[in-house]
Amino acid sequence: MKTCKYILIVALIFLYYLDSKSQPYTDLNELTGVSIKAYYSPGNEERARKIVERCERTIEYVNGLVRFKPKVSLFILNPEHWKKYATFPVYGMPHYPDSARLIIASEDNDFWKSFIPPLDQVPSDLANQIRKAYTSGDGTLSMMAFFDLLALHELGHGFHEQAGLKMQRLWMQELFCNIMLHTYIAEKEPENLPALEVFPEMVVAGGITGYSFTTLADFEKRYDNMDPKNYGWYQ
Ligand SMILES: [Zn+2]
Repeated sequence: MKTCKYILIVALIFLYYLDSKSQPYTDLNELTGVSIKAYYSPGNEERARKIVERCERTIEYVNGLVRFKPKVSLFILNPEHWKKYATFPVYGMPHYPDSARLIIASEDNDFWKSFIPPLDQVPSDLANQIRKAYTSGDGTLSMMAFFDLLALHELGHGFHEQAGLKMQRLWMQELFCNIMLHTYIAEKEPENLPALEVFPEMVVAGGITGYSFTTLADFEKRYDNMDPKNYGWYQ
């Protein structure tokens, strides 16, 4: 009887040990050596680390201003894992499937590339700015640098939601996130200001033709019920 008890205790300790070592996403790797819980599709450790460390720096910076840190887990996913874990269907759009998990694309993609206009059809000054801000590591043009920054905007939603900040209007919460993002980049990564600013300037310079909604009142009413391009214009 004593031996049985002994075996049971050893088995329980072993199971507890296994559980403490396992993580819930068996097909993803967990990033180590960082203060944020983060999981990534195998093969993307270097990019995951870059993204997560930037989020860490942003959280620390904003915490220094507002004395609050949101709890968030980051998922840096390839297209295959995106299908499994993301709730926004388009690969590349950073988003929260719930209030504590932020999903980010690990790879450059058609969605990011689709925002680059034909450079021979825009003024040469703008074409130069686009080339400078959005040439990726492999030499192709993509809005990757912009969408990577957009992940920090999404992080901003973690701050106001988890801190219980009362946002009287939806546009105020979006503005809060954009100001947070802009402040961090301007203060800590000024070399990346062009990546943050050239794309919005290009969109605004294109005028409002082609957009069904352009007023703040419409934004409140149609927040999650408008064409993504129109929503992007508001942002
Ligand atoms: Zn937002």
